[in-house]
Amino acid sequence: MIPRLRFAHLPTPIEPLPRLSAVLNGPRLLVKRDDQTGLAFGGNKTRKLEFLVAEAQAQGADTLLSAGALQSNHCRQTAAAAAKFGFNCIIVLVGQPPVQASANLLLDQLFGAEIVWAEKSRREAVLQETFEKTSAQGNKPYLVPYGGSSPTGALGYVFAMEEFVGQKVKADWIVFASSSGGTQAGLVLGTRVFGYEGKVLGISIDEPQRILQEHVAKLASETSERLGRRIKFSSDEVLVNDEYAAPGYGVLTGAEREAISLFAKYEGLLLDPVYTGRAAAGLIDLVREGFFKKDETVLFWHTGGQPALFAEKYQPELV
Ligand SMILES: *Cc1c(COP(=O)(O)O)cnc(C)c1O
Repeated sequence: MIPRLRFAHLPTPIEPLPRLSAVLNGPRLLVKRDDQTGLAFGGNKTRKLEFLVAEAQAQGADTLLSAGALQSNHCRQTAAAAAKFGFNCIIVLVGQPPVQASANLLLDQLFGAEIVWAEKSRREAVLQETFEKTSAQGNKPYLVPYGGSSPTGALGYVFAMEEFVGQKVKADWIVFASSSGGTQAGLVLGTRVFGYEGKVLGISIDEPQRILQEHVAKLASETSERLGRRIKFSSDEVLVNDEYAAPGYGVLTGAEREAISLFAKYEGLLLDPVYTGRAAAGLIDLVREGFFKKDETVLFWHTGGQPALFAEKYQPELV
């Protein structure tokens, strides 16, 4: 048995997006609501944390230590999970403390996480130093990997695919935001293990296609060993589109703004400025250029992130 805690609200619902499909004159569109996984505004990291926090408990850890961007959704969900299961939480964030904390950073603080600031180039070093310092003080830190994307974290999305297959909704494509690769690795492995017959297409947020494909293939292969299998995935089996990543991480352009606006105005559904806004912009562009067949069904797997809508940085740029 693989240790797992059960705190996510599962299964997440699947909903049709008929008004968006119509306005785009495109294929049938669906959304799977992993923005509704239940922990502290939800998101995809919650599924990973069911396995990661269980592993931390099994190792006798008392502190969850992780790192991310200033508006990291991963760190917010990690801080909430730490609070819920009685761990200390230390988060290494890239950048400098803003005058006024907003959005995810504000929530990190509400959950009682200790924030350590690091320059981008020193993130790994500061993380290592913090781990050693915490151990030296007599605590037992568990390092939650960047984005929760270790084989343990990726298991969350292997079983998300089992859940999806069990929902018996037909979809030819699953499209979603891919960055540290754990979500995609889990879905790719889950496709094989649970017999999903459609295609899994990651829209890269910030990585070149080849690098992300290789990373996901490796992570999916490693994760299969956690299931007692030994499946070897090649990069070519991993579908990644990096055409929308050029502006860089967290940069809001007209494309993301349009996607956020279309989902909001036609479906009353919120996307986030960093991940789902960019992935949906990619999806919309692919629909417009006729990438999908008109009679296909395309499922947008919503990975969450909406608290970042309230980050100070995006306030002047969103509408
Ligand atoms: C972390 C995150 C992603 C990317 O998931 P990975 O498993 O890191 O590829 C996508 N969307 C949101 C909202 C996220 O927070």
